[in-house]
Amino acid sequence: AAADIGIIVSLCKRRGFIFPASEIYGGLGSTWDYGPLGVELKNNVKRAWWKAVVYDRDDIEGMDGAILMNRLVWKYSGHEATFSDPLVDCRECKGRFRADKTYELDCPRYKRKVAACSANLTEPRAFNLMFKTQVGPVEEDAALAYLRPETAQSMFVNFKNIVDSRWRKIPFGIAQIGKAFRNEIVPGNFTFRTREFEQMEIEFFCKPGTDADWHAHWIEERHNWYLRYGIRAENLRRYVQQPEELAHYARACTDLQYRFFPEREDEEKQWDELEGIANRTDYDLSVHSKGKHDKWQVHNEHSTQSLVYRDPVTNEKFIPYVIEPSAGADRATLAFLMDAYSEKPGPDGESRVVLKLHPALAPIKVAVLPLARNKPELVEKAKAIKADLQRHGIRAVYDDTAAIGKLYARQDEIGTPFCVTVDYDTLGIGKTKDGAKEEDAPASPAGLLDTVTVRDRDTWEQVRVPIAGLRDFLADRLGT
Ligand code: ATP
Repeated sequence: AAADIGIIVSLCKRRGFIFPASEIYGGLGSTWDYGPLGVELKNNVKRAWWKAVVYDRDDIEGMDGAILMNRLVWKYSGHEATFSDPLVDCRECKGRFRADKTYELDCPRYKRKVAACSANLTEPRAFNLMFKTQVGPVEEDAALAYLRPETAQSMFVNFKNIVDSRWRKIPFGIAQIGKAFRNEIVPGNFTFRTREFEQMEIEFFCKPGTDADWHAHWIEERHNWYLRYGIRAENLRRYVQQPEELAHYARACTDLQYRFFPEREDEEKQWDELEGIANRTDYDLSVHSKGKHDKWQVHNEHSTQSLVYRDPVTNEKFIPYVIEPSAGADRATLAFLMDAYSEKPGPDGESRVVLKLHPALAPIKVAVLPLARNKPELVEKAKAIKADLQRHGIRAVYDDTAAIGKLYARQDEIGTPFCVTVDYDTLGIGKTKDGAKEEDAPASPAGLLDTVTVRDRDTWEQVRVPIAGLRDFLADRLGT
């Protein structure tokens, strides 16, 4: 089974992946800062997503929209009226909870599970999750703006811009990665639910009637993407939303769920959403089009555009249907960390942590290490190899801050797929004992000059590789 979140939280803090935000001032509930390795890992997750959905396909355009949008976007999207969760207060412990979730949280007053004190709850009331802010120096209603609670809307309101500027024909999609903000009633479980997070979303536009097939296509694609980058099949499942769970405009929605809570006894409660893939019908482009839309009981008096699409071949006019695969970059990063975590006994018998991240996701691809840091020739050679790898786009680091065994263990723990060691044989100088003259040292075995040792993180096997072929050797194994 994968590690539980608690183990990951402490590894992340200890090794510089993720820190509690504003920590020296006591933190700010459920906010997190990605540290030196966390920023690399999350960037790699986002890059792998962008590569799969934008670069490896021919039917998706990327964009990067503003976080602040005209308030009317949220009026017509329905968020102002309905983007809320049902909030209940506990009269006893004064805690606030979501009425639609069961909690495994401790009641802050009685130190019991929340379910135990839930008998004395108020009636649920709608709590809007959008953060309000004001644009400009005047504090008045007209200046009200929201921090976007999803990235989706900028893709809908730019639909026409992208069709027109990129000669796009349906079916095609738009992809975007960016921050979203929700004033969650109960954030928690590390980066699983936070008030500021990052989304990776696709809005895929297709002709009505083809929507069910595209929906199936995207469920398959997205499921396979997680498997390709290392999630084990037994920790990922599809959950088909029941009709009563669907948003009013949605025709279908399948969630990809990850086993985020393997420690829970009830197997059903081990799973939670990693990504939602919804068939949103023609709701979004309809409500943002000027005029009356009886189907959705919306009269848009503010939009200046009609988002009706005209098929250039048949001249047929229709409002495209939208398939939306919506993933969380932070949740995906957490899932990849949890699934990569493993322990095995080291040479000294102590348990070692090995983070078996897919090489494309690993924060550092190669660590170049000199066998001894007090030998200037070894140091110089190792630094030159590091610089050469880095110059050719392979993320490499140099390290000589501990003995070689310890350096290997450190790299295993942060998921570095390969360690390259520069030793005496590399330089053909032979190993000298302290005080011995260089010419007295035993000669290097033949054929080892200008070669280095490459050590594999997962097997701990070491092979000798000529420096001249090192880049290709590593590039072949690092993949993309
Ligand atoms: P939930 O029911 O858990 O609140 P949701 O169904 O409202 O989530 P969506 O609106 O479908 O979530 O958001 C799409 C994706 O964005 C989610 O699958 C998740 O990966 C991510 N996400 C949503 N809310 C949060 C959050 N508060 N913190 C971190 N990631 C989030």
